Parts: sequence; C-alpha cells; structure tokens
Amino acid sequence: MDSLSTTAATPLAAKRRASTTLKRLRVLLVLATTALVSEVAVCGEPTPYAQAILTARQFAEDADMTLSALPRVAYQIGGLRGRIGTEYRLALLYAAMNDDVLAARYWQAMDADARRAGDNPARGTALIAQIYATFISGDYDSGQLLNDQLIEVAQAANSERMSATAQEYQGVRDRRHGQLDIARDHQLHALWLYRLIGDRAGESTVLTNLGTIARDKGDFAQCLDYFLQALAIRERIDVRLAVAYRNLALLYRELGDVQTTRQYFEKALDASNHHFEAEYYASTIGVYAAFLNDIGEYGPALDKASEALTISAALGDRPSTGFEQLEVGRAQLGLHRTDEAEAHFNDALRIGQTIQQRELIARAKLSLAEIALGHGDLATTHRLLDETAPSLNSAGLKAYLAQAYSLRDRLAVAEHIPAVAYEYAHRYSALREELLGVRSTRLLAAIEIRKIREQSQQKLELAESINELQTERLERGRHERYYSIAAIVALLAILALFSAFLVRFRRLNHALSRHNEQFERQRGALIEANRQLERQAHSLYQATITDALTGTRSRSHTLDELARLLAKCRAQRRNLTVLLIDIDHFKQVNDRFGHLAGDRALIQTSRIIDAALPADCLFGRFGGEEFVVAFADHDDGASAELAERIRRAVAEPMPDMAMAITISIGGAMLKDRPAIKAIDPLLDAADHALYQAKLDGRNRIRGFSPA
Ligand code: GH3
Ligand code: MG
Ligand code: MG
Repeated sequence: MDSLSTTAATPLAAKRRASTTLKRLRVLLVLATTALVSEVAVCGEPTPYAQAILTARQFAEDADMTLSALPRVAYQIGGLRGRIGTEYRLALLYAAMNDDVLAARYWQAMDADARRAGDNPARGTALIAQIYATFISGDYDSGQLLNDQLIEVAQAANSERMSATAQEYQGVRDRRHGQLDIARDHQLHALWLYRLIGDRAGESTVLTNLGTIARDKGDFAQCLDYFLQALAIRERIDVRLAVAYRNLALLYRELGDVQTTRQYFEKALDASNHHFEAEYYASTIGVYAAFLNDIGEYGPALDKASEALTISAALGDRPSTGFEQLEVGRAQLGLHRTDEAEAHFNDALRIGQTIQQRELIARAKLSLAEIALGHGDLATTHRLLDETAPSLNSAGLKAYLAQAYSLRDRLAVAEHIPAVAYEYAHRYSALREELLGVRSTRLLAAIEIRKIREQSQQKLELAESINELQTERLERGRHERYYSIAAIVALLAILALFSAFLVRFRRLNHALSRHNEQFERQRGALIEANRQLERQAHSLYQATITDALTGTRSRSHTLDELARLLAKCRAQRRNLTVLLIDIDHFKQVNDRFGHLAGDRALIQTSRIIDAALPADCLFGRFGGEEFVVAFADHDDGASAELAERIRRAVAEPMPDMAMAITISIGGAMLKDRPAIKAIDPLLDAADHALYQAKLDGRNRIRGFSPA
C-alpha cells in the first residue's frame, strides 16, 4: 500500500496537462455511466468511479478504431515530427481515459519515432509516461530499463527536469526494492534539481517520497517533517493535496494517533473528490480501509476497501489491487465471513507473487495462516508461518512479525507445546512493548517536530507577510517616486514651455517696444517735420505777405486785401477811401545820404504812417517809396482829415534823421465811382490825384472835394 502511495505521488507532467483538459470529459463520463450502466461486476459492488473508468476505456477502444489511422495521415502530411505529435496527443487522450494499454502503445510508438528523429524532449516525455506505467503495473524491471534510457536522454538533452524525474523514479524503484539509503540519495538529488529549476510540484512529490523513506527507516520525526513540508507546498499550489493528506494520515496511523489519522483521511477524501482523480481517491479509501480494520471498524472498512478494489482493478493497478484484496479480506474476517476472506487473501497472495511484493506476500500468508489456525489446519499454519519468517524479520515489518509471534504462540498452544508457546508469548509481548515504546517515542518526537514546524511555519508566514508588506511598500514607494518624477518632469516641461513662451513674449515685447520707439521717433520726427513745414510755410507766407524792408504788408498782399475790402464795401454799400502816398524827392535822399540811409528813412516813414492810422485801416507798401492806405466809411472830409494827419505826422522832424521827409498823398473814393468792380480804377484815380499833388508843389493832399 505504501509503495503505491509513492507511485501515485510520482509526477507525470504529460498526464497532468492532459487531465486538466480532459477532467470535464471524465466528469461527463462518470455521469453518463452512472445513468447508463446499471451494474458492472468488477470484484464486487459497482461504483461510479469504476464505472467511469470502464466506460472511458470502452470509449477509448471504440475511438481508436477510427483514430488509429491518424499517425499514418500525420506522417504523410508532416513527416516524422507530424507523426510524433499525433502519437503524443493520442497517448495523452487514452491516458486521460484511463486506457493504459492504448496509451502505452502510443507512448512506445512516440518513443521509437522520437529516437529516429533524434528528438530528445519528445523521447523524454514518452519515456517518463512509460516508466510511470511500469510503477502502476509493478513491472519494475522494465521500469529500470526505461529509466536508464531516460538518464541518457536527459544528459543528451541537457535537461534538468528530465534528470530530476529520472532520479526521482530511480529513488522510488530503489525504495520498493528495500534499498532505502540509495533511494534517499536519488530522491535528495531529485529534490536539489527540482529546487534548482523551481518546480514546486516536483519538489513536493520528492519531499513526500523522502518522507516515506524516512518512515520506512523508522525515523518518524523526519518523516513528519518531510510530509509537512510537502503539504505546505501543495496547500499553496493545490496539486495532489489528497496525496499529502493521505500520507499524513498513514503516518499518524503508524503513530497510533487515531483521531488525527481519521482527520487527515477525511481531508484526503475531500481533496480527492474535489479534484475528481480516480487513482488518488482509490488509494486514499484503500488505506483508510486498512486503518478502519486496525481499529476494528470492519463494516465501514469493508465498504471502503471494496470501492478501492473495484477502482484499482479497473485501473489495472496491481500493487493497489493486491493490498485492497487484503483489506477486503481483513474486514470480512473481522465480520466472521471467513470463506470470503480466504478467497481475497489468496487473490492478494497471487498478485504479490506476480509482482514480487514481499510485504503483500507476507501479510497475505499471515492472514491465511490465521484462517488455517482457526480451521485447526495446524500443518498449513506451520508452513505459512515458516514461509513468512524471512520477510518479516526485516525492520519495516515488525508489526506483522508481532502478529506472526502471536500466531505461533496460539499454534504452539494448539499443538500442546507449552515451552514454544511460552517463548513466542514472551517474544510477542517483548516486541509489542518495543513497538509501543517505539511508537510513543515516535509520537513524542512527532509532536515535538510538529510544534517546531508549526512555529517555523508561523515565522515563515510572518516573514512572508512582512515581505509582502515590504514589497508592497517598496512598490508603493516606487510608484510614488515614479509619480513624483513624472509630476516633476511634467512641471519642468510646463515650466520650460512657460519660460519659452515668456522668452518669446519678452522678445516680442522688446521688438514691439523697439518698433514702438522707432514709431514714436518717426512720429516725433514727422510731427517736427510737419511743424517745421508749417513754420516754413508760415514764414514763407509771412514773407509773401510782409514787406521785407519795412515790415508792413507786401505789395501783393496789400492788393489782395484791397480787392477783398472793395468787395466787402461794395456788398455792404459802404464807402471806401484809398490813399496813395509817395515820398517827395526821395531820389535825392539816396543820392545825398546813401542808399542805407534811404532804407532807414523808408522804415521810419512807414512806422510813422502806421502809428498815425486808426486800427481798422489797411496799410501796405505799394513799391519803391510809395505806400497805400485804405479805410471804409469816411467821406471826403473825414478822408482828407485822416490824410492830413498822416502828412503832418511824416512832416514832423524824425529822430536820428538828418534830412526832412515829406510826402504827397493822392486819394480816391468808391462813392465817386460806384460802378467799379476791381481795385485798379480806384488806384488809378488815387495815382492821378497824387500826380496832381506833385504837380501842385508836393507835401500836400489831392483827390478830395473841399468841404
Ligand atoms: P518826386 O518828388 O517827383 O517823386 O521825385 P523823386 O526823386 O522821389 O522821384 P523818382 O520816382 O524819380 O525817384 C524815386 C527814387 O526812389 C528812385 C529810387 O532810387 C528811389 N528808391 C526807390 N526805392 C528805394 C528803396 O527801396 N531804397 C532807397 N534808398 N531808395 C529807393
Ligand atoms: Mg515815386
Ligand atoms: Mg518820390
């Protein structure tokens, strides 16, 4: 039973992958078969699991009639590699459908093709699957040959995973041959490799195998340690939890802790039901049945052992079938169904002999010896006990040795040999005591190790949660840093953009103010130029309207003003008087005092005339030494009076002037010539009068009618 536990725990990567995909198919098959198959007689009562297995196998065989052509087709399409791929898929399909015969056929074909193609990974997969099958069938010799090949392929492919699996399988095989130390070395090598490649499932399987070896060696504390390590991993990755719980149950069964044993068995059943894996379920209820037999609960033991038996038989798992036959027999013996029990013990013995399983043979023979003794068949009892003796003396089977001593004691009593009876009774009680002593020591050690493991587990969990917290903190810190950096970068980018804008804005501003200044300067210059122009125009105008020498109106300006005044007086029917003034003998002034003195005299005369005039009189230089005066609203008398005032003012002796200056004035009035439209006739008339004044002796006024 123990050896199967290891087998079941052995990983089959391919099968694991397939089972994930095909688990649903299995569920469907179970449901279908439960409904369709009313009774399947496989070594007893039909069970859903057994029915599922048989139906799946039937499906597989039907399917293969069609699918067997696939590798040929694949070869024509994809060559050797195509055929390997198809064989692999078919092998997985049949393995998932629990048809090991069909699966084996394709694994072998794949192995041969992969060898031909030099495809080491594919060979490794095919070899691992075939080795696994040999553990199920108990064909360890073939398994050994295949495992040797696997080691070679692993080396050629330089695959640590394959090497780990080869080491693990070697360890399992060695343990089953009782070579515990060698087995442990292989498992430790496998453990190292699985840890190296980080295969947690492989690691947990090897830890379980190491635990089993430790248990075989009687090191229960070490065993518990390994099992609990395996459980910790499996609880984490949820792979074959049922196996881990079952192994712990087995260990506590060995330690005599009934309550803990039952708890782990229940957990194992829950887990295997949850994952719906027939082989784990069968091996679990098989060993559970053994435990129930140990504690005398024969009814439940019979149920569980029978169910396990139908499944193992359906699976073709010979070692398990053997041990389960034994447990069915034990339960029936407990229920006093001796004949049925004997048949099962014989079946178990046959299987044990076929697969050369020492423990199975020894235990079957012991049970048969017990029945023979019950029947009073002392010879058979003797023979059977003698046959078991060599096997039972091995350390691992001391419990059954005690059973053998007890039987020998009872046999001796039946044979009336008190000395022998006494001797075996003594040996029995000594061994029982030893076993009980060992058991309690183991129990104490186990309790101790469990306490230590729980503490270290708690520490580990604490450390992990601290780690997680720290990782989270680091992560958060990292995020914070990223965000801060991102924020700073964004801020810097905005700042850079902003300063670029600012610089540009400033440049534009500068350019704008430069342009503005330029514009202002240009505007100022323009205004200044305008002003200058205006000034120039003004001075030009002033120059044109002003007589350069005397500062009075120029001739042209005087004539313009005269024309305007005439028009105004004509329009308003007012009188207009024009006086033409000429300096007397001015030529002589020039001649006597010089031209400059003549100029000064001209200036002086013009000022005196201007000063003598009322405000609203028009006054200007007419040319040379002649001046014009014009005014409105004066009749002859008033006009003559004003002319006279002028003449007198000029005739007055002038300061700084050596000579006397006089003027002659000729006047003319609009009222005497109302038809005239231009100023010339009026000026002509005034000139005429002036001429008359000259003729009359100068320094006088002419042109006005006397009062
Ligand atoms: P009359 O009494 O007949 O008017 O004699 P007159 O010498 O004044 O007559 P005439 O017209 O022959 O001479 C005018 C003189 O006035 C001639 C000219 O030399 C002088 N004259 C004209 N304009 C100016 C001037 O701007 N400055 C000076 N110094 N002399 C001038
Ligand atoms: Mg003159
Ligand atoms: Mg003159």
